[in-house]
Amino acid sequence: MSNIQLPAAFESQMIDLLGEKEFVEFKKAIDLPSKTSVRFNEAKLSVKDWNKTPIPWSENGYFLENRPSFTLDPSFHAGAYYVQEASSMFIDHILKSIGIPQGIYLDLAAAPGGKSTLLSSYLGSDGLLVANEVIQSRAQILKENIVKWGLGNTIVTNNDPEHFTPLEGFFDMVLVDAPCSGEGMFRKDPEARNEWSLDHVALCELRQKRIMDQAGSLVKGGGYLIYSTCTFNEKENEDMIRFLTSEFSYEPVRIALDPSWKVRETEVDSDGKVFFGYRFFPHLMNGEGFFITVLQRSEDAYIQEPKRAKDFKHHYLKEIWDRDSAELDRELGFEESGKYYTLNDSYFRISKDWNLHFQKLSQHLSLKYFGVELGKKQKTSWIPNHEWALSLLPKNDFPKQELTESEALEFLRKNDFEIKDLPIGWVLMTYQNLPLGWIKNLGNRINNYYPKEWRIRM
Ligand code: SAM
Repeated sequence: MSNIQLPAAFESQMIDLLGEKEFVEFKKAIDLPSKTSVRFNEAKLSVKDWNKTPIPWSENGYFLENRPSFTLDPSFHAGAYYVQEASSMFIDHILKSIGIPQGIYLDLAAAPGGKSTLLSSYLGSDGLLVANEVIQSRAQILKENIVKWGLGNTIVTNNDPEHFTPLEGFFDMVLVDAPCSGEGMFRKDPEARNEWSLDHVALCELRQKRIMDQAGSLVKGGGYLIYSTCTFNEKENEDMIRFLTSEFSYEPVRIALDPSWKVRETEVDSDGKVFFGYRFFPHLMNGEGFFITVLQRSEDAYIQEPKRAKDFKHHYLKEIWDRDSAELDRELGFEESGKYYTLNDSYFRISKDWNLHFQKLSQHLSLKYFGVELGKKQKTSWIPNHEWALSLLPKNDFPKQELTESEALEFLRKNDFEIKDLPIGWVLMTYQNLPLGWIKNLGNRINNYYPKEWRIRM
């Protein structure tokens, strides 16, 4: 039980929302421990033999009976799963139950990347995701998580929402998982109670309006906008639906619910229509506090399609011509068509289908990462990058070495370790067949190429 008191103004706001009797249940629930949950990366590994129960609104999500040490599980570092609070995984149900078409998606406030990895899985090879984070240090963590997830369909950018102005009407789906006052985190992170105040709520509301004023214009005609927060109050939730629909023309979208989930639907009258929001309360379910709403942009709104540029010019990216890109695909044994670029002599690959979109995005946004970084090409060989190891792309020319759990942990700690009969040159280290990274065997010693900043320190 937390000894951090709930702010009085928060209590009265919750009583208005829930009533006295239910508020007592709520208050009890936020002093109980949170349930750990994970979402598996089905492209890498479908499940682990943990004691677990499925999360009903997310295909690959599970509640765990106990919290294992994720840091000491090599498959965690291989991107086999993401540790994510269960309510957030409701986006999976939204995407699949509405059947939101794949295409070009934007996650405007994406770090550390929980929802981006979910969107990346949903898009698979039929879409492109822009995962954006305004704070630079957080954009770095976002990149790491995207690299680990490994699907190669994501561009990580580090921009303020206002930099997206030239991309009006460009996206099939925009997710705004807004920075908020965090009332839904009072159980998982009791310290958050100390940071809460009515002034902070007002500040969050202003910031959310600024973000929504931009996000609302980025969705193309017929596309979708998903807005979510981890807070309960109406100012940051219902009022944001009112704000958005007063600025732009959107249609309501209602989500099918199973009553046993105990998700609460709320109705919002605005612009002569009734919109819907969904609240997750910790006294009704195992997830944390959460709010989410979906809206569809009117069909007659502007749609921006990228145009083929005669000449692609960029201040640090160099385009590899289509013929040479096809040659690289053949050489490396990649089946789907890729388009290659180099940055400081390192090769990056994205799906050719999304190249025009990528070129347009690269003209306006600050790129942190895109597609898969393969590494440097020498005359007849490659200096492979860690990003390639963790991606789903084949690594046909490199021998593999399967490691035991203790060897894998030594590798992830970036320690020196010995393996007998290792081939000379670059070798891909795997654990339970999941790639972990590279070593280079020089004959008299082994160099461990696990990235220094990612190494485990336990
Ligand atoms: N979607 C993330 C996930 O599932 O892992 C969590 C996002 S978190 C709730 C909100 C993010 O918005 C933070 O990473 C924060 O740095 C970012 N942010 C803060 N101020 C912002 C602003 N003015 N515009 C856009 N994003 C902002």
